[in-house]
Amino acid sequence: MNSTGTANITATDIDHWIGGESTAGSVASRGEVHNPATGALTGRVAFATPEDVTAAVTAAAEAFPAWSNTPPHVRARVLFRFRDLVETHRDRLAEIITAEHGKVFNDAQGEVTRGLEVVEFACGIPQLLKGEFSENVGRAVDAVTFRQPLGVVTGISPFNFPAMVPMWMFPVALACGNTFVMKPSEKDPTLSVELAKLLKEAGLPDGVFNVVHGDKVAVDALLVDPRVEAVSFVGSTPIAEYIHTTAVANGKRVQALGGAKNHMVVMPDADLDQAVSALMGAAYGSAGERCMAISVAVPVGEETAQRLRERLVKALGELKIGPGMTADVEMGPLVTAAHRDKVAGYLDIGVEEGAELVVDGRKQQVNGAGDGFFLGGSLFDHVTASMKIYREEIFGPVLAIARAGSFAEALTLVNEHEYGNGTAIFTRDGNTARTYLAKVKAGMVGVNVPIPVPMAFHSFGGWKRSLFGDHHVHGPEGVRFYTRNKTATTRWPSDAQVTTDFAMPTHA
Ligand code: NAD
Repeated sequence: MNSTGTANITATDIDHWIGGESTAGSVASRGEVHNPATGALTGRVAFATPEDVTAAVTAAAEAFPAWSNTPPHVRARVLFRFRDLVETHRDRLAEIITAEHGKVFNDAQGEVTRGLEVVEFACGIPQLLKGEFSENVGRAVDAVTFRQPLGVVTGISPFNFPAMVPMWMFPVALACGNTFVMKPSEKDPTLSVELAKLLKEAGLPDGVFNVVHGDKVAVDALLVDPRVEAVSFVGSTPIAEYIHTTAVANGKRVQALGGAKNHMVVMPDADLDQAVSALMGAAYGSAGERCMAISVAVPVGEETAQRLRERLVKALGELKIGPGMTADVEMGPLVTAAHRDKVAGYLDIGVEEGAELVVDGRKQQVNGAGDGFFLGGSLFDHVTASMKIYREEIFGPVLAIARAGSFAEALTLVNEHEYGNGTAIFTRDGNTARTYLAKVKAGMVGVNVPIPVPMAFHSFGGWKRSLFGDHHVHGPEGVRFYTRNKTATTRWPSDAQVTTDFAMPTHA
């Protein structure tokens, strides 16, 4: 038994991946990884010391000259092979996600597919690395602008997408010629190492992609290492802000994606069946542990609110909750017991604040739950903008109904929230949808689409306190983030007369 009192006979060691091989590093300490559906301890993950992080950055720095000098199409060929390997191993990878994160198996398969789409985008990156050329900008003078990789870059990811979020980052960075140090979430760390093994099998040279596990100690070591040129972070807003401030102070380029409180406005003319089905998936899918989850429904008008509420209550009564590998289950457990308890704590807070707890997830039946970290889906009504359950990201299966009297009131509510990751509007009216698209302050907007996650060849990112930094991830912005421009002005020895000029060069 371990300190948490859980049987641990099958717990495996999860180690770092540095220089193309698995290593336990200095093993000063290890963290526990549990299967959220059973509560069992399944892994002990090595926590990196600053020395372990230095070793990973050194491996990446030593691999950089050869990898950055590898022609872009040859780098892309490695990613083509990696793409095929990930597809071949998709179900095995999805099983690992379900075992460590808890989300249901088909959701985990979908996560791998969304990550794979970024790999497919990265295979075509040589096209985006083409530069610009201007002939004869002066007499016999040409100008060329081209993009070069940054060097060693790092990715720090959250627990909720252990495959997809790392894959938002490293395929683009590698295709652009950088080398990479990944610091995945310590709650579900195995996936990053599995991806590292597949990259090696695809022919990626040792040291180009490294994984260090751990907590703040590992992250801080990455943020201060002068050889790390750029930091991609995805996680909660307080940590995103800290990462941004610290990394910028250490001279690094940073994109730090933070938390969210995504609203879905439901207009009186919306197809309500469609809106309810969209809300159920978007609020309770993956137990609400998605940065693009809808956590606030904003019905416009009392009648819309009443009809929406009735249908949501009915649908919640039919929600199938259980272990993620069980067929037909729609919602799995939360990631840890501590997170489950924190989310449940918000139910008490909401009641104290005067919201109406219409459905209490603590009372819902869970099939085959055992000691798993389960919590049913909850629904609050009459939630107002001043309440803590409205202002804060709960990151669990809790949906709030915040009623609005008009479209203008709904729009103001969304725009005044501190987060601006994603949002959606359900309506049949083109003009209302168009106005919402034009005026809403959020980075990703859905029209009759509840989770508007952009495809890999577009870029993903929020506004306001959902993103710190200037670049969104993957797509064209990802390429810009992981490269920098160089512009050369060239003249070759010729018969043209050479004169010494002390004035500012002009092309007159
Ligand atoms: P988190 O912020 O707790 O952890 C994210 C990463 O930061 C992990 O790798 C963790 O080890 C590290 N970390 C944690 N505390 C740290 C500290 N004090 N100093 C340095 N590093 C630290 O987030 P989480 O709970 O793993 O993930 C859930 C959060 O991620 C939610 O807020 C969710 O909205 C957000 N998220 C955002 C997006 C997006 O695209 N905006 C996508 C996915 C998740």
